[in-house]
Amino acid sequence: MNEALAALESVRGRIRAACGRSGRDESEVCLLAVSKRFPVEVIEPVVRAGQMDLGESRQQEAAEKVEALPSQVRWHFIGKLQRNKVRKVLKDFPTIHSVDSLKLATYMDRVAGELGLVSNVYLEVNQAGEERKGGFSEEQLMSSLEEILGFKRLNLLGLMTIPPVADSPEETRAWFRKLRELRDRVECKGGCALPGLSMGMSNDFEVAIEEGSTVVRVGSAIFGARPLKP
Ligand SMILES: *Cc1c(COP(=O)(O)O)cnc(C)c1O
Repeated sequence: MNEALAALESVRGRIRAACGRSGRDESEVCLLAVSKRFPVEVIEPVVRAGQMDLGESRQQEAAEKVEALPSQVRWHFIGKLQRNKVRKVLKDFPTIHSVDSLKLATYMDRVAGELGLVSNVYLEVNQAGEERKGGFSEEQLMSSLEEILGFKRLNLLGLMTIPPVADSPEETRAWFRKLRELRDRVECKGGCALPGLSMGMSNDFEVAIEEGSTVVRVGSAIFGARPLKP
C-alpha cells in the first residue's frame, strides 16, 4: 500500500479511538487532510481512497490542484487570506477557516454577494495574542459578533485556532478547552448555534478531539514531511 494511504488509515483509527475515549460519535469529527505543498500525484490516491475534505493555504498553489483533482473534493482554505485573493478563494473554496478580522469578513460578505454565493466560515482566534499570527482577540470577537452574524453571505460555522507551539500535546489541551469555552460564551451572547471547532493538527489532534474538536486539520501525519516552500 502507498505510504500516504497507510498513514491515512492510521490517522482515521486514532480519530476513532479518541472519539471512543471521549464518548463521541466518529461522525462528529471531520478529517481535513492538509495537502499544502504536496503535488497532485501524492494527493490523488488519498482522494481516491475517499478522503474528500482537503485543506490548502495558498490560493495560487491550490488553483492547479482544484483543476486537476475530482470536482467532488471539498476544498477548505486554511491560510492567511489576502484581500486581493478573496474573489478567487471564494470561488474555489466552499469553506474558509481563517477569517481573521471584521474587516476581512465585511469584504468577503460583499464579494460573496457579487458572486452570488454563500461561504461557510470559521473565525480564527488568536488565543495567546501572538504578534506574528492573525486572528480575533476575545474582545474583538465579542464586539464584532453581532455584525458578523448579520452578514447574509457568510454562514458562520464556528471558531478556529492555531495554538502556540508547545512541547507536548498535553500543553496544548488548555488552549483547546479555552476555545470550546469561548465558543459556548459566543453562542450565549449571539443567541446562535456555533457547532464548529476547527482545532487540532498532526501533533495534537487526539487531544483536540477529547476537548470537542469538530474538524482536525492534519497534514504531515498523512502526507509525511512537507517539501520546503518553493
Ligand atoms: C499546515 C497547517 C496544518 C497542518 O499541519 P500538520 O502539522 O502538518 O498537521 C493545519 N492547520 C493549518 C492552519 C496549517 O497551516
